[in-house]
Amino acid sequence: MNPFDEELAGRLKGLRDRGLYRELRCVESPQCPRIQIAGQALLNFSSNDYLGLANEPALKEAAIRAVERYGAGAGASRLVSGSLSPHHELEAALAAFKDAEAALSFSSGYAAALGVIVALLGKDDFLVLDKLVHACIVDAARLCGAKLRVFPHNDLAGLESILRWVDAKRPSAPSVAARPRTLIITESVFSMDGDFAPLRELVELKDKYGAWLMVDEAHATGIFGQNRRGMAEALAVSDRIEVQMGTLGKALGASGGYICGSRQLVDYLVNQARSFIFSTAPVPAAVAAAAAGVALVRSQPGEDRRRQLMARISELPPEFLPQPRPAPSAIIPILIGDETKAVAVSAALREQGIFIPAIRYPTVARGKARLRLTLTASHSHLDLAQLVEALRRI
Ligand SMILES: *Cc1c(COP(=O)(O)O)cnc(C)c1O
Repeated sequence: MNPFDEELAGRLKGLRDRGLYRELRCVESPQCPRIQIAGQALLNFSSNDYLGLANEPALKEAAIRAVERYGAGAGASRLVSGSLSPHHELEAALAAFKDAEAALSFSSGYAAALGVIVALLGKDDFLVLDKLVHACIVDAARLCGAKLRVFPHNDLAGLESILRWVDAKRPSAPSVAARPRTLIITESVFSMDGDFAPLRELVELKDKYGAWLMVDEAHATGIFGQNRRGMAEALAVSDRIEVQMGTLGKALGASGGYICGSRQLVDYLVNQARSFIFSTAPVPAAVAAAAAGVALVRSQPGEDRRRQLMARISELPPEFLPQPRPAPSAIIPILIGDETKAVAVSAALREQGIFIPAIRYPTVARGKARLRLTLTASHSHLDLAQLVEALRRI
């Protein structure tokens, strides 16, 4: 081995020793409740395809039609010549779905977070994050250079003491435009714990301190609220949140990310969001599939899927549910703690035909390894029964 590879081999061994080594598994089937890995059929309880749209005929057909009409690739970034009709149609559909003035789509949720946060904040500004926000927000925080403060998970008193500190620290600039800004970011449903942010109280706090609020609805869009827009709709605070973010790759069944908000916000991002500007536009197939996903979620079948998902969640015996929640979410963490043990439990489940991967550091904190169990509308009552039996046996 040459010295470069030797160095990397040493680092990989370190990961293995700590139970943190990861490897790709090749899934030989579409994203369904039943997947095939290395020839083995497994019941899949790990997908974020909450409404079962990833393999839905309407989405697949929309993708095929878009390929036939607009080709395989977008050819350039959106601001050059890559801004195709399907991109504009998707953004109109997203804005209507979310009841927002405007929407902008990105190649992923990760790119959306990076784009908007870096565009809005600079080194003189303040960024205040819930301890458990997604890695894309943490990475954007580093990249934008703003002064970063983290409040304990869902802890309003902790957040308020930070906002008070920021207020005292904020120099009073001569003009409003030159004053440093404060952006608070949280998720509405947390990705690894499945619990909810107190959005109503957060909105009150950010108004009290003149801060901005950004909410990542990655795990709530399509599932909560009367029109399935997300938790901001369910709690009637949509019009008080400056930046609404989400992904097109989870309940919406396709791929990509989005930001919804005011016309000014979207126009500003087109001009300033570097992950949007300096990246080739998403392929027509992905964009058209996402638009079909939005249409389906908005329709009666979307509501039927949501109900099916909620029915499955309610079938899970209380012993597997974490602490009481204000409402059920599709993410159920089964806390194990030790990384190596979590991997062993996941492997034992796989032997029984159940696929639930172990989630470890750095996705969650050290010593907080878990099985992250997700349910979807495509799971049947029998699938749930099989899951419960296997979990009880282990
Ligand atoms: C998945 C996820 C993202 C990233 O979205 P992608 O479209 O997968 O890049 C962002 N935030 C949260 C909370 C997520 O769970």
